[in-house]
Amino acid sequence: MNYHMIDLTPIVDRAGESLTVAEPLDLGEIAVGDVTFALREPVSFEAMFTNTGDGILVSGSATAEVRVPCSRCAESFDSTIAGEISTYLATGVRDSEESPSDEEEYERLEGHELDVLPLILGAITIEAPFAPLCRPDCQGLCSVCGTDLNTGSCDCVHDEEDDNPFSSLKGMFTDEEAAETDSGD
Ligand SMILES: [Zn+2]
Ligand SMILES: [Zn+2]
Repeated sequence: MNYHMIDLTPIVDRAGESLTVAEPLDLGEIAVGDVTFALREPVSFEAMFTNTGDGILVSGSATAEVRVPCSRCAESFDSTIAGEISTYLATGVRDSEESPSDEEEYERLEGHELDVLPLILGAITIEAPFAPLCRPDCQGLCSVCGTDLNTGSCDCVHDEEDDNPFSSLKGMFTDEEAAETDSGD
């Protein structure tokens, strides 16, 4: 699916009118950076389109029920990503006497149809976790043997400074201290 058009014909020429749309979109999966979120069901999309007289105000939400691998332990888990949609599209005929600078901030609605797919993907992408975690305290996998430390344990020695049995000895015998010890005797 590359686009999803909403027909705004019922409101586009009627100031003050609004149109509510609620429909599921079957997108399959959503990739955000290196992470692929598989959709467990179609994305739920709800929005209200209001003709404000010189533009269309879009206000709504998009919710995705996803399944994604944990960035620490690689176990897939279920999660919900809910994003908000809020945007404004100018519709009025541009008046050459007016300063164009005010209008340049807004996208313009061309014709009577609006592609809402970019709005939906944008709302979900901005809420999607950069590094998904199956739970906040996921212990991840042992970097040496690969054991899932959430469900098991291992006897591997890890590289982290705190775990290194030799790190506490570092700096104990500097050349300076060694020299003082020698002279003291
Ligand atoms: Zn995990
Ligand atoms: Zn291990």
